[in-house]
Parts: sequence; structure tokens; C-alpha cells
Amino acid sequence: MTHNSQPLEGLEIDGVDAHCHVDLYPDPRAVIRRAEADRIAMIAVTNTPSVFEKMVALTSDIQHVVPALGLHPELVGARSAELPLLRRLQKQTRFIGEVGLDGSARVRSTYEQQRRVFQAILTTCADAGDKVLTVHSRRAASEVVDTIGGHFPGKIILHWFTGSVSVAKRAVAFGFYFSINPLMVHATTFPLLLSVLPRERILTESDGPLVRIGSRPVEPGDAHSTIEAVSAAWKMGPNEVRAIVVQNFRSCLASEGTD
Ligand code: MN
Repeated sequence: MTHNSQPLEGLEIDGVDAHCHVDLYPDPRAVIRRAEADRIAMIAVTNTPSVFEKMVALTSDIQHVVPALGLHPELVGARSAELPLLRRLQKQTRFIGEVGLDGSARVRSTYEQQRRVFQAILTTCADAGDKVLTVHSRRAASEVVDTIGGHFPGKIILHWFTGSVSVAKRAVAFGFYFSINPLMVHATTFPLLLSVLPRERILTESDGPLVRIGSRPVEPGDAHSTIEAVSAAWKMGPNEVRAIVVQNFRSCLASEGTD
């Protein structure tokens, strides 16, 4: 049996955080324990392959949290030498993230390098099959969606998607999920984005601790503010929306394999 092939099976889940940088909080264990106590299922993303094993150790006794192996596009300039390590470690996990492309001016100088690294990660994941990827696409949404394409043999979660509606529709057609954080719901473009996303593709995320609400970092439990916003838009009770999101997360994480 592959490591964490059916990670959430049999677990009671009341909330979803599909993208949290739990290792970047001052007290990661406290955040993980709160998530577990609140029955929030989480993908604990990492930004470089060299911290993955630390994340595995940090979360090994917590069933609600699955660690993910990542190489953040903003760090590719400094950390591309860790790509071989990512290739080795991916054998230990089905969960990959944070990966992707970032076309912002600040890291534009590394864009070609980001492209090569992202393509290499996608190829590695496609060869292995059955991976779940949480993907960054700031100022690169169209290229990210088209680079992955409609035949990727695994699951794709577009984290904090800020691309156009036409790109969102393409991603929907390709079968991708969208994880929505508490800041996204305040964007003027959010109602239009939400209107083109099928109910079965919506997930919640915190992207904590870098996302802040007022003066405090967002936490996995803040998913409820996303639930409220979606609930208002869908004219549906929050508990019903939460149940849909939980079901979506279970489907997204379930292994397609027969092992
Ligand atoms: Mn992130």
C-alpha cells in the first residue's frame, strides 16, 4: 500500500484547510493540535524539499493533517538545487505543494527557471501518478493551467486563483479544484469567479500564516469565513456548504489507485 493512499478514511471532518504553511507559525504544534481538536482536515504545504521530513515528523501522529512536499516558485531562484531531493522524496508521499509559477515583477527574473522546475515536477508527478498537487499561479494562471493541461494523471488544486474567468473555465474543464481563502472572498472579482466554479470543485484554505486578518495570522479554523461567503452566494445554509466542501476534499484526496 502506498504511503497515505487513503488519508482521511474513517475520520470525522468538520472543516477543510487545503493549503496551510503550518511550519511557518511561531508554534506549529499548537496550530496542528487546534486543527485536530476542531476536526479540520489539512494539507500542510512546504516551500522547499529540505523541510519536508521535518513536516512529516511534526504531523506524524495527527491523522487530520497530511504533509506535502513543495518547491515554491518564489524560492526556485535560491533552491532549484533541491529539485533532485524533491524527486527522491516524492516516493514517500502523494501530496505535492506548494509548487507552481509566479509571474510577479519581484521574481520575474527567475521565470524561465521556474518554468523548467515546474515542468520537471509535473513530469515526475505524472510518471508516478495519483499525486495531489496544490498549485500557485499568481500572475501566471493561464500558463499554469495550460502547462498542466487536461490529461494530468492526478488531482490539481489551484490555490488562491486570481486569473481570469476564461482561464478558470478552462481549469474547470480540466477537472481542477479551487481552494478559496478568507481574503479571496473580499475581492471584487470573487462573485464572478465563484459563479463559474462547480460546487464539487470548491475547497477552503487558509494560506496561513502569511495571510492576515487584521493584525493576526489566519488559522485553519478561519475557513468558516469562506464558508459564510460561499453560503451567501449559493443561497444555502453554511452547514450544507461545509458538508459539500468536506465531501469535495475527501474525493480530491482519495487515491484512484487499486493498491
Ligand atoms: Mn502558500
